Amino acid sequence: MSIADNLKQYKSEVEKDGVKLIAVSKTQSNEVLLEAYNAGQRIFGENQVQEMVDKQLHLPQDIEWHMIGHLQSNKVKYIAPFVKLIHGVDSLKLLQEINKQALKNKRVIDCLLQIYIADEETKFGLGYDETIELLRSDEYQTLKNIRIVGLMAIATNTKNEKQIKVEFNELKVFFDGLKISFFSSDDSFKELSTGMSADYKIAIEEGSTMVRIGSGIFGKRIIKHFKADISAN
Ligand SMILES: *Cc1c(COP(=O)(O)O)cnc(C)c1O
Repeated sequence: MSIADNLKQYKSEVEKDGVKLIAVSKTQSNEVLLEAYNAGQRIFGENQVQEMVDKQLHLPQDIEWHMIGHLQSNKVKYIAPFVKLIHGVDSLKLLQEINKQALKNKRVIDCLLQIYIADEETKFGLGYDETIELLRSDEYQTLKNIRIVGLMAIATNTKNEKQIKVEFNELKVFFDGLKISFFSSDDSFKELSTGMSADYKIAIEEGSTMVRIGSGIFGKRIIKHFKADISAN
């Protein structure tokens, strides 16, 4: 099936539940992204700063760019002028830097807090207690150029669907609790970015509002290494 066919199928499947489709285009060429764009896709997810900046420069300006990968504080400035949503915010320090760069660009940047839910050592994210601590902190209260619009998480990479369901379900319960405790008068706190090609169906059953689909749309990724020629400051 073509990229256009894949997109059409995913779109009709997830949008009937009011869920947004993020096309995860990391490692894909500009030509491939254009193919998806011409098929109507406007939201793209990337996980490398350099790659996203390059693509943003060369592709149509009405694309919404979502940073879905781990973001280092010293690279925020490169995406701050245009990024639509940063999914992987996992520290106060990073949030402060995003706020600083958003202010410089006279913007308010939407962010998701990445929550650690997987039964694995390698995944980034805040624990439940750390999240509450962050939201209670005085430092967070002073940040006027960021807006936390929800949570993001990656479930354990396992064939055990029950485990994935439990992880997403606990996250949803936590999300609902945060909504009541910290965001009750804030309509913009409503997003749950959960679900990838392998587990998006379970994620949607458990309250996902945006799924991040890569290989399901574009096929298997060819692993390649982008040169990181952005200097460290
Ligand atoms: C690569 C990636 C995805 C997409 O994964 P697929 O299995 O290709 O759908 C989703 N979320 C994040 C954070 C990713 O890095």
